Order: sequence, then structure tokens, then C-alpha cells
Amino acid sequence: MSGNTEPLSPRAKLAVTAGKAAAAVSRAAGRGSGSVIGGKVALRLDPDLLGRLAQHLDVILVSATNGKTTTTRLIAEALQASGPVVSNALGANMPAGITSALAGGSDARYGVIEVDEKYLSGVARDVTPKAIALLNLSRDQLDRAAETRMLAEKWREGLAGTQAVVIANADDPLIVWAASSSPTVVWVAAGQEWKDDAWSCPSCGGVLQRPSDDWFCGECGFRRPAPSWALSGDHVLDPHGSAWPIHLQLPGRANKANAAVTAAVAATFGVPPQVALERMYAVQAVAGRYDVVQFQGRDLRLLLAKNPAGWLETFSLIDPPPTPVILAVNARGADGTDTSWLWDVDYTRLAGHPISLIGDRRLDLAVRLEVAGLDFRVCESVDEAVRASAPGRIELIANYTAFQDVRRRVGN
Ligand SMILES: [Zn+2]
Repeated sequence: MSGNTEPLSPRAKLAVTAGKAAAAVSRAAGRGSGSVIGGKVALRLDPDLLGRLAQHLDVILVSATNGKTTTTRLIAEALQASGPVVSNALGANMPAGITSALAGGSDARYGVIEVDEKYLSGVARDVTPKAIALLNLSRDQLDRAAETRMLAEKWREGLAGTQAVVIANADDPLIVWAASSSPTVVWVAAGQEWKDDAWSCPSCGGVLQRPSDDWFCGECGFRRPAPSWALSGDHVLDPHGSAWPIHLQLPGRANKANAAVTAAVAATFGVPPQVALERMYAVQAVAGRYDVVQFQGRDLRLLLAKNPAGWLETFSLIDPPPTPVILAVNARGADGTDTSWLWDVDYTRLAGHPISLIGDRRLDLAVRLEVAGLDFRVCESVDEAVRASAPGRIELIANYTAFQDVRRRVGN
């Protein structure tokens, strides 16, 4: 045990109890797990509750545009080698959801917490984390590059002087800019596939030079820091130069990068890379993502892609043609209601795959694919799209609410 082991005050206990009651009422009313409403009620009764719940924990915060839910899960898995872990495993990543998750973990040693990008600085202030993992920043929904730059600036101000060890991706210039104000940073060369939001220097606005795996600003000298950990093909290189093989059930390069960051975080808490990597292998799916479900005699793999960088990473991990692909796009509140981002995604990567389109905005997607010169079929439902696809593996790629719709329909 670390830190303060004092029991919760009567007020904090009352807040936790009231939060649990509110969550139970919400569940009974059929409104999901109730964790967010429970957390809101509890925070209303005790605004300092989040900090109090975190007092007896070694807290690790994880934030990014993409991969934070998966990396949170990998870190939670790895740290269980060293003690019990409480985590917001289902991705409720704003203060109310985080409070609710921590309230259920009074016996834990570690709190592994995914944090929405906009709340990182505030949550870091409240919970005094031991470590903060920062993976990547790119535009999400309708955010444009300037807003991503502002977010990096907010992180930079919020993390200045933090006591936490910051574990940060050296290959993402915005992440480096954000993390550079922290006194202790462990740099991980985790790669960056999507570079469209990182051509201008976060420090001076100059044009970044990008020779092979390096980057630097010719104007002000801001440059890629020397990493102590690295992802190299299918291996993690540790600070001593040892290479540890990555075996994951989760697919794709992005998840190998998540594993490299996880190994660096685990080492900060004394868990050696080989132990951490072994434990990561146990993770098959994360909140339904990457799950393969049987549906109408096919094996449907469920993939989530929420923004241009996410779609690009997902195209790189699907099985080659002629594996059928179903694309599902909605534009409801949680997705962003504007679909202009479709034009930022290079769909020609799907050439050769039989493609079916579903979701509220399938016609927007159809226009986009028509212009890209691809063949496709527009379907009314996931059932119709699956029936129209050859038996065997089908890759289904969906944005946020479309993903939830599909999960409900296919019983996952
Ligand atoms: Zn510069």
C-alpha cells in the first residue's frame, strides 16, 4: 500500500453510497450501467470525492485521441502482476465515470484510469497520479488541427511541474510538445502512422522536417527527443537494449505501439517487460472492440474507428482481399453530426474488398466511395450486409454509435 491509508470520511462514505444508489436506480430504469449518473450524484455531495478515492492508490492516467481504452486495459492487465487494480474498463472517461469506477475499488493498490483529452489536466490535479501515459493527438470528429494544437497547449500548462512520471510517444510532435513541460518524461518511440495533423511545429508554427523516423523544426530547433523505449517491428526495445517479443491477440500496428507504451509504464512500477507482455497476451477484446462474433454463419470481426487516424490504422490491420468489409457510419451526438471527415480518409486502401455500407449516413459514405472509384453495395441493415457477403471472416468497421448499434444487433 502506498500513500494515505486513512479511511474515507463519513461525508465521502455517504457520497459513495448515494452514488451507488443512484446508479442502481438508473440501471433499474434500463439506462445502462448507471456509472455516470452515480458518479455525478456522488460528486455533487462531495466535490473532492475523486481525490479522496484516489488517495490510497497509485494512479496511472492514460490519454490520447486513439487507443486510450485499449492501452488502459493493457496497463491494468500488466500491473495486476504487482497488485490489485481498479480501472474504468468500460471507457466512462470523464470525472463522473472515473469517480464511479474508483468507488468500486477500495481494496486496490493501483488505479488505472482512461481520461478524456479535455479533462486530463483537471483529473491530474485531483488525483495526484504517479504516472501519466500520453499516446497521440490528432483531430477527432470535427476538430481541426488548430484545436488539437490548443489541446496540446492545455496539457503542457496542466502538466508543468507534475510529480508524475510522464510516459510519452516521442514520434508524435504534439505529444512531445505537451509532455516537455513535465520534469520527468520517459520517451517511447511508438510510431505515428497519421501525420496530417503534425506538419507544423507546435512551438513556433514552422514546417516540420520529417526524414525517415526522425522529425525536427528547422526554424526553432524543437526536435524529437531520444527515446529510451521503442517499438521495433514485433519487439519492444527496453532502455538496456534488450528486445522483447510482442505476442498480442489484438491485431495491428497501433496495438503493438500500445503494448510498447504499456511495457514502459509497467517498468515504472517494477514489473519487468517479459512479465508485462505475457499478461497483455491475455487481452482478447476491449469493450467489444476486436471481438469476433458468430452471426448468420459468418465470423464478424468488430472494429471501431472514430476519426481519420483511427480509420487509417484500422485499414492496415484487416485481412487482405477478397475478405468482405462492412462500413457503418452514423452522425449522432457522440460521433459529431458533420460527416465532412469522410473526405479526409483514404478509402482507396479498400480496393479489391467487396464493400457493403450501412448506418444512418450510408449515403454520405456512398458518395465518398463513388468519388474514390470503389465498388460497393448500400444495405438497409447489418443483417442484409452480412447475408450479401461470402461466408467466412467479415471485417466490420464502424464509428462510435454505429458500433454500439451493431453490437446490440449481433448480441455482443
Ligand atoms: Zn519550431
